[in-house]
Amino acid sequence: MDAPDALIVGGGPAGLAAAIALRMRGGRVIVADRERPPIDKPCGEGLMPEGVAALRSLGVWNDCAPAAAPFSGIRFTEDGRHADGRFIGAQGAGIRRIELHRRLVDRAAEAGVTMRWNETVRVGRGGVAELDGRKIAARWLIGADGRESAVRRATGFAAVAQSARRAGLRRHFAVPAWSDLVEVHWHDDGQAVVTPLPSGEI
Ligand SMILES: Cc1cc2nc3c(=O)[nH]c(=O)nc-3n(C[C@H](O)[C@H](O)[C@H](O)COP(=O)(O)OP(=O)(O)OC[C@H]3O[C@@H](n4cnc5c(N)ncnc54)[C@H](O)[C@@H]3O)c2cc1C
Repeated sequence: MDAPDALIVGGGPAGLAAAIALRMRGGRVIVADRERPPIDKPCGEGLMPEGVAALRSLGVWNDCAPAAAPFSGIRFTEDGRHADGRFIGAQGAGIRRIELHRRLVDRAAEAGVTMRWNETVRVGRGGVAELDGRKIAARWLIGADGRESAVRRATGFAAVAQSARRAGLRRHFAVPAWSDLVEVHWHDDGQAVVTPLPSGEI
């Protein structure tokens, strides 16, 4: 490919969504990720209604829907008390992250996104990007490279995005959902999120 319009560093949900959106507007896009798909990571696996709407507008939702369970809002729980926030006129969706990623990759391929997996982008000062040892002269460099973003560091935005370290883990249980809400359980030492998934799982 000649110089692309955009080089997207990171092929997680943000990078693939940006890539599909750009392709739908005729842009030439390369997405590069150091992992191979489908990429999984610890996650509560709940999509808010805005996320569902975004997937719909990107042409991904029809493929996701059979693998998703709807939910109607969020319940925040602490010390035996709870507060519910129900969505108005829309629903969220629980979907395994790996299933979401698979479908985003399929849609990106269908849309004509060039995807480079198992390749790390090196980002130098001022946002000069190298892929496989070659400089990529894209008009736009999109940093979708997650929490430890090299793009953010190289372009001087790192100072605004620091927080304490956390550890996250995700487990699936063969227990039918007992609520149509995602539950967020707060505790001094951590937070547990319970998300309804299809096929009798949370
Ligand atoms: C415990 C936990 C629970 C969560 N639960 C939810 C939830 O229920 N619902 C929700 O919407 N969000 C949830 N989130 C947040 C959600 O996981 C993130 O917002 C989301 O993953 C961000 O997606 P992303 O594409 O920006 O980044 P990521 O998914 O982190 O993707 C970044 C990608 O960039 C790649 N990369 C990084 N550097 C380079 C490089 N130099 N070259 C090439 N590739 C590179 C990485 O390999 C990675 O694949 C949760 C997060 C945590 C930690």
